[in-house]
Amino acid sequence: MEFITEYTLEELKEKFKELGLEPYRAKQVFRWIYKKFITDFDKMTDLSKEHRKLLKEKFLFHPLEKIEKVEAPDAVKYLFRTKDNHIVETVLIKERDHYTLCVSSQIGCAVGCTFCATALDGLKRNLTTSEIVDQYIQVKQDLGEEKIRNVVFMGMGEPLANYENVRKAVEIFVSPEGIDLSKRRVTISTSGIIAQLRRMARDPFMREVNLAVSLNAVSQKKREELMPLTKTNTLEELMEVLKSFPLPKYRRITLEYVLIKGVNDSPRDAERLAKLIGRHKKRFKVNLIPFNPDPNLPYERPSLTDIMKFQKVLWKYGISNFVRFSKGVEVFGACGQLRARREHALK
Ligand code: SAH
Ligand code: SF4
Repeated sequence: MEFITEYTLEELKEKFKELGLEPYRAKQVFRWIYKKFITDFDKMTDLSKEHRKLLKEKFLFHPLEKIEKVEAPDAVKYLFRTKDNHIVETVLIKERDHYTLCVSSQIGCAVGCTFCATALDGLKRNLTTSEIVDQYIQVKQDLGEEKIRNVVFMGMGEPLANYENVRKAVEIFVSPEGIDLSKRRVTISTSGIIAQLRRMARDPFMREVNLAVSLNAVSQKKREELMPLTKTNTLEELMEVLKSFPLPKYRRITLEYVLIKGVNDSPRDAERLAKLIGRHKKRFKVNLIPFNPDPNLPYERPSLTDIMKFQKVLWKYGISNFVRFSKGVEVFGACGQLRARREHALK
């Protein structure tokens, strides 16, 4: 048995061919799953009884089991369990007039950022395409009619370290026969793995997906301290790759910057950030994320005054930036935290 959500439409057509089914049958099934979110062959009324039987013998739908749902005023956190007993976290964020889904791409993470709860246990494994896609399907089934307009790969894990599976999931998210999201509305957030960013730049499909890069520090030394994997993925190379990245028209790269009290939040850091961006102001925007405290992490969140001082410097240099406060995040803590607590409790 295999999970049907592992496959893009093209792959599914091949699979169906092997079963002696015509390619348009694959399209029918694909549309049931990703347009209507029906995950039961018996409810796919335009298939014959024989075909349903055949498909039921061959395919399963959900690699994840929903085990918990925690609600906050502007966000809902879902916890799922994989078949091999790992916890995957997904957050649905309610914006003013739409929803954004924050999905995970790995169990744990190998980048080892010292401010991130996901890093605490290291990397367990990559998520499969169907495990990524099923996060969307199950949340959408729970949500009902309302539309999820954006998908951001900002949950657990480093999406570019799981390039193939993430790419296939994105294909399903943007397929006109599938979920049909706009490529602008799917965001890959990466800690900046140079080789994979180059690969993305060469990939005509992936380079049209929205890109966010977690900068978090403005000197090589500080960045290495906070993000150990950047020893070999240097700040200099990163800025070089980003400055030449082939962006679609009117698109900007988001630079994410977690503000940590007394570590990277001084006006001097902001000056340096402005200098790093230099004359490429039109290419970048900055997303300031006040650090979300966690009992297992040795940092604190800066005061509102300090956050505003940092912002003021960026404004002075004409750099677009915004700070994101979320009530949901206040309740849940940072990305990966609820999961981290859970996994520790399970041990
Ligand atoms: N691995 C990818 C995507 C997942 S992390 C990346 O690093 O970009 C998503 C975002 O959450 C990153 O920008 C990261 O810097 C931020 N983040 C991680 N831990 C955080 C914390 N404790 N408080 C605030 N932001 C955090
Ligand atoms: Fe991994 Fe991103 Fe967390 Fe760093 S911030 S450990 S890259 S998930």
